[in-house]
Amino acid sequence: MVDHLANTEINSQRIATVESCFGASGQPLAIPGRVLLGEGILTKECRKKAKPRIFFLFNDILVYGSIVINRRKYSSQHIIPLDEVTLETLPDTLQMKNRWMIKTAKKSFVVSAASLTERKEWISHLEECIRHLLSKMGQQPPTEHAAPWIPDKATDICMRCTQTKFSTLTRRHHCRKCGFVVCGDCSRQRFLMPRLSPKPLRVCNLCYKQLVAAKKESEEQSKTAHSPLVGYEPSSGDDKDTESN
Ligand SMILES: [Zn+2]
Ligand SMILES: [Zn+2]
Repeated sequence: MVDHLANTEINSQRIATVESCFGASGQPLAIPGRVLLGEGILTKECRKKAKPRIFFLFNDILVYGSIVINRRKYSSQHIIPLDEVTLETLPDTLQMKNRWMIKTAKKSFVVSAASLTERKEWISHLEECIRHLLSKMGQQPPTEHAAPWIPDKATDICMRCTQTKFSTLTRRHHCRKCGFVVCGDCSRQRFLMPRLSPKPLRVCNLCYKQLVAAKKESEEQSKTAHSPLVGYEPSSGDDKDTESN
């Protein structure tokens, strides 16, 4: 569907235009075989409020950024490899219609289109690209994804203890595991989730308990799984090999 565009002059020009709009704040986007398929403004639900963002759909990545001057200057570029993406259609809320979630292991977020037709088009194009890419790479769709952050405004009280009321002095925090808005007391713990970050991240008390329990369980499992092999590890017999392990 797109391959015939891959090496055309018009495709290269379009990609060069996107690159120049992001300027030094963006990554080089032109690589052999990459095709720019479409672009549009979507509303992205952010922590504080929903904001318009420019989105570019390529055959292998989704790029989005903040709009400084539409069609002239964009900033805060984000690049999402499409083989990491799964989509989920979401019901309308009072404020937002035509929503869906873009989910990856690192980050998940909600966007909405101006109309139902527009959403349909975005989703069908995205899904087609994802399918095409996964089959080309011989990969299965990802099964795990990060929880999207619940927007600050969604709640005035801590979603874990339901006691703490937020104010200018009592700050909202986000659990990196479940995405809930929680108070400081309910999110004192940090936990290492290598998929999300090389540093331990803030998690709520409930997620912390679950993460610790899951870690313990997987450690026990690996212990039992390996115990019959203790002392009998396969070895090449090469001393150098053993040392490096
Ligand atoms: Zn709390
Ligand atoms: Zn949590």
